[in-house]
Formats: sequence, C-alpha cells, structure tokens
Amino acid sequence: DNFEKFQLSDEINRSLKVLKYSTPTEVQREVLPKAFNKQDLVVKSQTGSGKTASFGIPLCEMIEWEERKPQALILTPTRELAAQVREDITNIGRFKRIKAMAVYGKEPFSKQKEELKQKTHVVVGTPGRVMDHIERGTLSLEKIDFLVIDEADEMLNMGFIDEVEAIIKELPTDRVTMVFSATLPKDVENLCHKYMKNPSHIEI
Ligand code: AMP
Repeated sequence: DNFEKFQLSDEINRSLKVLKYSTPTEVQREVLPKAFNKQDLVVKSQTGSGKTASFGIPLCEMIEWEERKPQALILTPTRELAAQVREDITNIGRFKRIKAMAVYGKEPFSKQKEELKQKTHVVVGTPGRVMDHIERGTLSLEKIDFLVIDEADEMLNMGFIDEVEAIIKELPTDRVTMVFSATLPKDVENLCHKYMKNPSHIEI
C-alpha cells in the first residue's frame, strides 16, 4: 500500500519521500479521498495516528500558490501543537513552497502582524491570538477555503468555545471544515452540528 492511488503532485510526492512516509496510515487512507472531494469531516482519532498529514497533504495539494491571502486556518488548543502542525505543513509543502505561519500568545503581536503582511498560505494558531488578529484587522479571512479544528475536545476543555465560535462566524461559509478529536463529547458534536455541512464521520 502506498500513496500512488491518491495521484498526488510531484512536489508533494517528493516531500513524502523526504519525510519517509511510504505507506498511508489508516486515518490518511480514510481522510485523503474525502478531503479531496471537499467533504466536511468529523474525524475521531488519536495523536500519533498520522492525523496531521491526513489534513496537511490535501491542504498543501489544494492550495493555490499564487494567492497571497491565507487559504487555510488551523485552530489548535496549545502553542506547542500550533508550532508542531506548522512545521509538519511546512515539511509537506516544502517543494511547493507553501508558507505556513503559527500565531499564538506569548510571542510579540507586532512580529506576527508583519509576517502576516507577507504571502501566507496557511495560518495555524490558538483561538485567543487568532481572534486578536481578526479583531485588529491583521489577519485576512476572505480567501479561507479550509478550516481545521485540531484536538477539538481539548480546545473545548480549555474553555475556548466562545473564541472558536466567534472565529467560525467570521469565515466564508463557502469553505471545507474538518474537525479532529480524540473523543466526541456533546459540546464537540453540537459545534459540528451547528457549523458544518452534512459532515462525514470517520472513526479510527
Ligand atoms: P500525528 O498523529 O500527526 O501526530 O503523527 C504522528 C507521527 O507519525 C509523526 O511523527 C508523523 O511524522 C508520522 N507520520 C505521519 N504519517 C506517516 C506515514 N504515512 N508514514 C510514516 N510516518 C508518518
């Protein structure tokens, strides 16, 4: 079993080779075809399953390099996860020159503001700081085609529900939404029901 059946571009295949991803993990086998079909997805999967690449590969493939404004927004509960996801996306998108940026608290706002003025394809961030950038007009959302909510259960456990909802309300409705969560408590289900379009459920 390999990635050939997904008919990925040469650029992405090259990065998978460098990363030594030769066999898709179960979550990747499930998520990739549906993500390429632009279906909304609720994915119940653990860390370590290869979930980051399961959304990272389709995002990097579908992003248009020429566009200057961000096309994908990935929300994470912690700074550490934001940094990790940004790194993974950068590695997957390396040969396509995908620019991913992390925005989180405890790092100067002004530095992030300057970076957001440059071409940025993917923004990965924690809800509080992402909301700050939206409110101050330093993060453009008009070209966002993809929203990923990573570790949604953790996000809501940490009390980020209001920020997450406020952010979603600012996004174009014509977008793909993917929610990843280790568990699916009622509040995560409610969020999905409220803001997703007929999502497919994947359980690993
Ligand atoms: P994640 O669940 O996204 O945190 O990924 C767990 C680990 O698996 C990370 O170190 C990834 O680099 C690695 N990984 C992801 N996909 C693959 C793959 N298809 N083959 C080998 N390793 C992978």
